[in-house]
Amino acid sequence: MKLIEEFIGISGEVCNGRQGRPTYFVRLAGCNLRCKWCDTKHAQEGFKYKDSPANVAKRIKESGINHVLITGGEPLLQMRSVNALLDKCFGLDSTIETNGSMDWRAVDSCYRSSGHKAVLVIDFKLPSSGMTSKMRPLFDFFLSHQYFYHKGIIKFVISTQKDLACFYNIMEKGDLKNPSAMKNFPGVIAVSPIFGKKKQEVSHQELVEAVCKYKNTVLSVQIHKILGVR
Ligand code: SF4
Repeated sequence: MKLIEEFIGISGEVCNGRQGRPTYFVRLAGCNLRCKWCDTKHAQEGFKYKDSPANVAKRIKESGINHVLITGGEPLLQMRSVNALLDKCFGLDSTIETNGSMDWRAVDSCYRSSGHKAVLVIDFKLPSSGMTSKMRPLFDFFLSHQYFYHKGIIKFVISTQKDLACFYNIMEKGDLKNPSAMKNFPGVIAVSPIFGKKKQEVSHQELVEAVCKYKNTVLSVQIHKILGVR
């Protein structure tokens, strides 16, 4: 698999289990999107090193950390390697972060065959990212969630009023390709402000109001960035 880095830190956002838990990060190389506010541009192209899923899993197990987070870039561009790594990490909690443009159903087969307790976090890109047109229908995930997943999380980074309007539209009416409301999604919906480079136009209070409007919705802030840690 093509990698950028592996390191141990805390899970700074919503994940499989508690925010802030010790986590072994596996950052895969390459991304098919170019979000305007991307904070991991170094993972968009090229790679730092290659290694086998078996070797990566060996290092994870030797670390003694029981939560692995597979991120990128876009990890599902290397779906076979991700599935192989999940298999090798059987027994550990795992979280996969994907950008919402990929077909996540290929990860399903691994979950179903192994009974793996993995969580998929779909980072659905709202208009300020410039990538909304590339997103897959969220309602597919709603349906898959009911049948296949142990848990699932859909994350919305809300920066502008246009993002907020799009979020409400999806919750109440479904996304553009599937007119079915997401407010009954059985997993977790995470709402997050943007951090750093771009101005946060929507107030934090407006985010709290959005969260309090729906069940199964949480406010997620990137605590590692606030604290300046990994
Ligand atoms: S999906 Fe993630 S890594 Fe890819 S461009 Fe967007 S923010 Fe950056």
